[in-house]
Amino acid sequence: MDNHESHISEGKKNDCTAHPRPSWEEYFLKLAMLASERATCPRMHCGCVLVKDRYVLATGYNGSLPGAAHCTQVGCLVVDGHCVRTNHAEINALCQAARHGVSIEGAQAYITNMPCTSCAKALIAAGIRRVVVFSGYHNTMAEEFFSESNVALARLPKPSQYINYELESYTSADTSGDESSDATP
Ligand SMILES: [Zn+2]
Ligand SMILES: [Zn+2]
Repeated sequence: MDNHESHISEGKKNDCTAHPRPSWEEYFLKLAMLASERATCPRMHCGCVLVKDRYVLATGYNGSLPGAAHCTQVGCLVVDGHCVRTNHAEINALCQAARHGVSIEGAQAYITNMPCTSCAKALIAAGIRRVVVFSGYHNTMAEEFFSESNVALARLPKPSQYINYELESYTSADTSGDESSDATP
């Protein structure tokens, strides 16, 4: 059980020791989890963050093509057991980089789950040199392709889903005009 509440109640001090600072690996995996919150296919929520030299180059989540209906609105489009309505998170991250002319040569991909076979091949062909995941995916040949192409693969523990942002505890924060809390009808 966590004890976030007890840390808050201990005082208004900005206690940096209350929550361990995430490592870079945890940080980028948490960003991938955050991106996955935008996913629109109820069968799977994935997030992908492309990183080089600790800079985020692009992000993606599985979702419909721009302007198209979402699975959440019109249902999944299932072919051979897979929903094909969405582009996967990895493809959308690669497409975002392509649209903005961002080179991802030699970058790393932080993904919520092991890529499917197609995404693995796309990541390899795009120049990704290392892939970091914390969960698996069914029926994928990703590992074989990564190993064949010498793309490093790391499986890390799932990072904490808790985001440590306790506004009330920050001594420099001004929360008097905060209308966001409890204002939603
Ligand atoms: Zn779907
Ligand atoms: Zn995929």
